[in-house]
Amino acid sequence: MEAADISADLTEVLYTKAQIEERLTELARQIEDDYAGKELLLVGVLNGALMVMADLSRELKRHCEMDWMAISSYGSGTQSSGVVRILKDLSTELQGRHVLVVEDIVDTGLTLAYLLQNLKSRNPASLNVMTMFRKPESMRSPVEVAYVGFDLPNEFVVGYGLDYAGRYRNLADVGILDPAIYA
Ligand code: 5GP
Repeated sequence: MEAADISADLTEVLYTKAQIEERLTELARQIEDDYAGKELLLVGVLNGALMVMADLSRELKRHCEMDWMAISSYGSGTQSSGVVRILKDLSTELQGRHVLVVEDIVDTGLTLAYLLQNLKSRNPASLNVMTMFRKPESMRSPVEVAYVGFDLPNEFVVGYGLDYAGRYRNLADVGILDPAIYA
């Protein structure tokens, strides 16, 4: 669905499907350059990274492998605690691999910090992160993100894989959810 289909639920459309596609194309060219001559393993973080993984991987004009992790953050609803439980681990060995973690959004960076520490202990040849969206709070995180799609304001957004209560992941655009929906 598109923002127009649920316009009453959004206070603002931040990025349209076309803008997201255009930005992903730019990032794909950068990634192709940076990983030239190297085998690339994309690691998607379920469920949010579903859309960005599908679109980025198809935009890459080269081979890549894909694997998935599912994690859940302990915390009080909207706040990330950084304490993470692995619900589904990778099927791939990371030893000696060039790993690019594909994320939907980095907010505090706590989830990502835990994940990177865990993946690093498996001795990949390299470990980088691509995120489609980044919140201002992440500036305080020591976690380095090599590729960023868009910086967002400090608002709760939905769409392009990002949900509220399981909904809105299939929204092709990204927008600010009307607070009345979760009040
Ligand atoms: P962090 O540990 O970086 O604070 O939290 C990252 C996770 O919080 C994301 O993977 C996502 O599940 C959730 N999150 C953070 N900001 C938003 C947002 O604006 N919208 C949605 N739907 N999820 C968010």
